[in-house]
Amino acid sequence: MDEKGQSHGRGSMAVKAFARKQGIVLTEKEQAWEKDGTSPPFGVSTYYASLITPSDSDDPIRRQILPTSCEMMYSPGESEDPLAEEEHSVTSRLIHRYAERVAFLVTDACAVYCRHCFRRRFTGTQRGPATTEDIIAAARYVGAHQEVKEILFTGGDMFTLSNEKIDALIGEFRAVRPDLIIRLCSRVPVVLPSRITDGLMAVMKKHSSAPFFLMVQFNHPRELTAQSREATARFIDAGIPVFNQSVLLRGVNDDAGILEELCNGLLAARIKPYYLFQGDLVEGTAHLRVPLEKGLALVKELRRRLSGLAMPVYAVDLPEGGGKVPVDSMYLKGRDSDGAWVFETPDGGERRYRDPEV
Ligand SMILES: *Cc1c(COP(=O)(O)O)cnc(C)c1O
Ligand code: SF4
Repeated sequence: MDEKGQSHGRGSMAVKAFARKQGIVLTEKEQAWEKDGTSPPFGVSTYYASLITPSDSDDPIRRQILPTSCEMMYSPGESEDPLAEEEHSVTSRLIHRYAERVAFLVTDACAVYCRHCFRRRFTGTQRGPATTEDIIAAARYVGAHQEVKEILFTGGDMFTLSNEKIDALIGEFRAVRPDLIIRLCSRVPVVLPSRITDGLMAVMKKHSSAPFFLMVQFNHPRELTAQSREATARFIDAGIPVFNQSVLLRGVNDDAGILEELCNGLLAARIKPYYLFQGDLVEGTAHLRVPLEKGLALVKELRRRLSGLAMPVYAVDLPEGGGKVPVDSMYLKGRDSDGAWVFETPDGGERRYRDPEV
């Protein structure tokens, strides 16, 4: 436990200490998670851990944060960097994968480490926050590339930075490109709502002329607590629209009733369900992915049950940096002889997406 009320660490020791503290009896698969310093980290805030029902080994919150031995199994078609972000890096922390949008990796630190994280090659690697030089280099790049209309502050999680650092970060980009749309991508309102303080909101207010959008990640209706709704409401009340990007996760939300409750709950909290992501082909995450056919059936059912406003777009970020596309007939061409799904990319290319082997 550190001063932010977090349990974290790299080995199974940290997981075992956490389980003891929470009164959780680890399953065989959770116990068998034994990895060295190169493994994806384990970490969870006290608040988020409090949402777990200790006696339920299938708890949807627990599944998102407790590692299992399944993570050591790599499946066909998976890679460390399925979205080819390294290849599209234009400065040390800036990814330019779409002509008019860039993503800036503000820091590698997060308030919790999600087992399904698609950027696990980077998150929790102790590389730390972007340096002033990193920020200046990235700001210079967007200054020189007027075709870029939007920047995503992502990582890692930007709200793990101090208010002063967040202020400086926003200020650098605003100085060169006051017209830039800024997406604040963060799971902190969901997993550590107490971080959304008066001080942080004062920073937002200071830059209130900026076109900010907050992108959060609620995956299960149980995450919609009074605290997390209040944290997101602070942004909405400050004039910052909030959008949700869920990840479709096996054993967490691969159920029409749960997704229906989640989307309606989000909308009631004035949060627009934006994307429902098919799991990316990241190494060691097959056990959390849902077969595409099941995803399609779920979304069809949701269409019947939800209002258009509550309905997210079911999308897949195609392997080898193919880009994000909605999973529908416009882009989904069918299956090849090996059973892999064939997609057309936004640029007219072709990518294959492989279901987990069950
Ligand atoms: C997801 C993503 C975006 C934004 O995609 P939208 O479809 O506009 O939400 C931009 N850049 C990168 C690198 C991304 O991964
Ligand atoms: S909060 Fe986001 S970046 Fe951090 S581990 Fe979870 S999914 Fe990955």
